Amino acid sequence: MNLQDFIRDIPDFPKAGVLFKDITPLLSNHEALIKCADTLAGYCPSDIKIDKVIGIEARGFILGGMIAERLGAGFIPVRKKGKLPYEVVSKSYGLEYGQDTLEIHIDAIKPGEHILIHDDVLATGGTAQAVYQLIEEVGGIVVQCNFIMELDFLNGRDKLNAPVVSVLNY
Ligand code: AMP
Repeated sequence: MNLQDFIRDIPDFPKAGVLFKDITPLLSNHEALIKCADTLAGYCPSDIKIDKVIGIEARGFILGGMIAERLGAGFIPVRKKGKLPYEVVSKSYGLEYGQDTLEIHIDAIKPGEHILIHDDVLATGGTAQAVYQLIEEVGGIVVQCNFIMELDFLNGRDKLNAPVVSVLNY
């Protein structure tokens, strides 16, 4: 099974010039979904216990939760501005098609905890970099950033000061 067959390209979404990588065909196929989660969990370092997996709203929640289950780790949602109910730490950032703010609960991570960041797509790296900075601000240690896919030509990994792994590369 080739997971690339389950990624659908949507030209000019959400705006002209962006080739949107739609993961819904992958999510809706049980075997592809399990294979993707197993592969991402298998990429995690075996010598470091991951305490928490961070999933980035919204597409990072799905596989992020599955990876956390496989690693025996907790799951933490990083959400768009105004969605989390308790006290938050915020970070604004630029992405391939706009500007946004992400937030994490101030008590989500205990100082020194080992963190894995997960999202569906690494594009320019602005989103993951903002999350990386949020985690550092609340005292976590980022062990790895993992993605279903990486758009290599945008060099997003250069913004991240931690190992980056992806199942698919474009
Ligand atoms: P970036 O901050 O540029 O790395 O963008 C990453 C975030 O935007 C991720 O949360 C993705 O879900 C989304 N994203 C950016 N570019 C694309 C794309 N071409 N296809 C699908 N999602 C994308």
